[in-house]
Amino acid sequence: MEGKKEFWQRSRVELFRDLESSESGLTADQAARRLEQYGPNELREEGRKSVARIFLEQYADFLVIILILAAAVSAVLGDVESTIVILVVITMNAILGTVQTVKATASLDSLRQMSAPTAKVLRDGHLIQIPGRDVVPGDVVALEAGDAVCADGRLLECASLKCAESALTGESLPVEKELGEIAGEVPLGDRKNMVFSGSFVTYGRGQFLVTGTGMQTEMGKIAALLKSTEEKKTPLQVSLDQFGRKLSIGILIICAAIFAVSVFLRKEDVVNAFVFAVALAVAAIPEALSSIVTIVLSFGTQKMARENAIIRKLQAVEGLGSVSVICSDKTGTLTQNKMTVKALYTGGKIIRAEEADFRDPVQEPLLRTALLCSDATVDEHGEVGDPTETALVRLGEDYGFDELATRSKWPRITEIPFDSDRKMMSTVHQLSGGLLMATKGAVDVLLDRCVISDEERAQVEAANERFSSQGLRVLAFACRTVTSPAVSLADENGLTLLGLIAMMDPPRPESKKAVAECIAAGIRPIMITGDHKVTAAAIAKEIGILTEGTEAVEGAVIDKMSDEELQAFVPKVSVYARVSPEHKIRIVRAWQERGSLVAMTGDGVNDAPALKQADIGVAMGVTGTEVAKDAAGMVLTDDNFATIVQAVKNGRNVYANIKRSIQFLLSGNAAAIITVLYASLLALPVPFAAVHLLFINLLTDSLPAIALGLEPHTDAVMREKPRPREEGILTRDFLTSVVVEGAVIAAAVITAFHLGLSAGGAALGSTMAFATLCLSRLFHGFDCKSARPVLLTRRFWDNRFLLGAFAVGVVLLGAVLLIPPLEPLFQVAALSAGQVGIIVGLSFGSMLVIQLLKALLHGKRA
Ligand code: ATP
Repeated sequence: MEGKKEFWQRSRVELFRDLESSESGLTADQAARRLEQYGPNELREEGRKSVARIFLEQYADFLVIILILAAAVSAVLGDVESTIVILVVITMNAILGTVQTVKATASLDSLRQMSAPTAKVLRDGHLIQIPGRDVVPGDVVALEAGDAVCADGRLLECASLKCAESALTGESLPVEKELGEIAGEVPLGDRKNMVFSGSFVTYGRGQFLVTGTGMQTEMGKIAALLKSTEEKKTPLQVSLDQFGRKLSIGILIICAAIFAVSVFLRKEDVVNAFVFAVALAVAAIPEALSSIVTIVLSFGTQKMARENAIIRKLQAVEGLGSVSVICSDKTGTLTQNKMTVKALYTGGKIIRAEEADFRDPVQEPLLRTALLCSDATVDEHGEVGDPTETALVRLGEDYGFDELATRSKWPRITEIPFDSDRKMMSTVHQLSGGLLMATKGAVDVLLDRCVISDEERAQVEAANERFSSQGLRVLAFACRTVTSPAVSLADENGLTLLGLIAMMDPPRPESKKAVAECIAAGIRPIMITGDHKVTAAAIAKEIGILTEGTEAVEGAVIDKMSDEELQAFVPKVSVYARVSPEHKIRIVRAWQERGSLVAMTGDGVNDAPALKQADIGVAMGVTGTEVAKDAAGMVLTDDNFATIVQAVKNGRNVYANIKRSIQFLLSGNAAAIITVLYASLLALPVPFAAVHLLFINLLTDSLPAIALGLEPHTDAVMREKPRPREEGILTRDFLTSVVVEGAVIAAAVITAFHLGLSAGGAALGSTMAFATLCLSRLFHGFDCKSARPVLLTRRFWDNRFLLGAFAVGVVLLGAVLLIPPLEPLFQVAALSAGQVGIIVGLSFGSMLVIQLLKALLHGKRA
């Protein structure tokens, strides 16, 4: 495919010839063959980790390495058995860690796939939508405002096309594209007849012939320099890492002290003392916190994806838990976006839709203009296009006004497309005698551009008011003659008003409940819409967003306000109407400055900055543009407000589950440390062997910690206020409960230790201490389910993963204690039935005490 000339220098004919393609695109066969030849249209990810590498990385912990070295030294000195056991335990832990990491990565990959962009390509002469990765050289791809450009290519068609290419050139302003060859060597930014993968269409329409895909694109050339898309750590992970580091230093000091006491005061064997000190450090340092967070978050995203919310950034899951303001579009998100025309206003009269009549010379121009000025099509195959417009076209069809016949009788010559900033659009049609411009748009916008008497204007406004107060969406229609088809924005003036059409867009049935749920959860729902204030207010009232004491305002109201004034004003407002994308940014910022965490929806090209500004940008998956999706943290596959609320609920539950896992890990570790410190201070023998601590921490503890991360979600989280923005997990209350619960478990372990010591000496004492610590921690998993007691409630049984983790833990512990050949390996002494009974009793007892404490502090039932 190497031509002598560069792609931007070739003629159209040369391009089609060289790329073996045509105006009607490739055939399905050709495309399939080329996909095989060139591979998928994807950037190869550099530095993607293999499973083997992930496995090895599990060992790349400083302490684990020290431990292996220490174990190796002790093996050289003769204690081969415990070395083998330590290595086996560490390896099993590494396998567990690898499985979790691979699963979490796979689930994040599948999410990425779900939100991957699609492309509209011509295949066999038909425009079809395919995944961007299936695009091949020679494909003809259609572009419109909001699309992501999926490959490099040369433009075949270009209608006011503008592309943002900052990812490639750093140039922040969109580049205006054009057709025609460009001679000579020009830099990328000047190849205006080409489009490039990684850029976005910000305006206009176009079509291009794909010249390069995947690594053969300009993006591919620089992608080699880019890092792979590794997830950034979430704020929670960062704060846990910081906490972990501080805690580690404390633990290392304790371990060093214990080592010193053993060697210098108790004259113990240096190697043994060292192995023990390192094992204690490995056991007590919560190095798994941050990875537990990744695992639980990524599982949470799977559930959310099944419930129509695709998370694009892991931080969003965490953030969702503390969202306190949700700003939502109206049309399509809170409402169904299924429009039906209810009434017309023309010739000074309101006419119900059922009574509309095309034969009436007063109504005919209005009805005809509605059809001509709409891009939507309605035929036997269904409806294509914007619902507002399909409603208008359907109106004609319903009354025997043939769409095709009308369109061919008054063919469209040019147009000024709809734009939500202008809130109107115009089309120019050929009449026998000249050119007619048809314009439709928001009533207030259009009235200012019509030639109209004050009296008539008052009447129109009254009709508009009457429609709007019923929650109807009203559009005005106007026309004028023009002399040249080259119309500009300035021509949308001096119009003759034809009338109004009012449409019904009923609220989604689930919106009302979702709004109520939001309010109960301490979250403020706010409607932000391009629609008319009265219409928006009527709908907002119906679904419960506009409540006593709050108001509906027009976006223009905030134009005059300073940022400080706006900050004081936003709490009073529940509905913003006639809003522009700039207003959205200011509203988000004002709430954020008040300390709120804001979720904001958006779909258009111009919404991207507001979506980025919001803490959680929410893009519409169905009606949204690729630009909006790219800027968002979450994409709704059903464009539904109720889905955002459900995602918040999931976010809160995921956060609660992370908290449970962390509580479980930290309090268990605290128990081990307290016991060891106790024995050390009282100059008792060491309560655990190194393998005991490793066994518990690396094996029997990991499964319950993950299981707690998968606790079933509850509705109860939606009865609490949002978590304050700045509040971390590690609050004083949280750490207090960690220490208290750790102390209770330690008390049980110490009791077992003493009983063992007095009955059979150090070996039995340490066996009983180990078994009690292990079993208590398994029971403790159930404590961590809730701040309230769960024993004797259904809650106790509702997490099958936790029940499974408990069972696996008990079996492993049972095997170590009761299978005689394992006894020397794990340094356990044989136990009598009575001693087993004591261990079970003490462990269960520790759970009873913690449950009782919870009952005293937080009420009786879960
Ligand atoms: P939301 O912002 O809640 O999605 P919306 O659909 O009303 O509501 P926009 O799409 O920005 O928001 O539309 C703004 C206004 O422009 C509408 O209220 C309507 O008056 C007018 N309008 C919408 N669609 C068209 C159209 N296809 N042609 C002409 N005017 C339109």
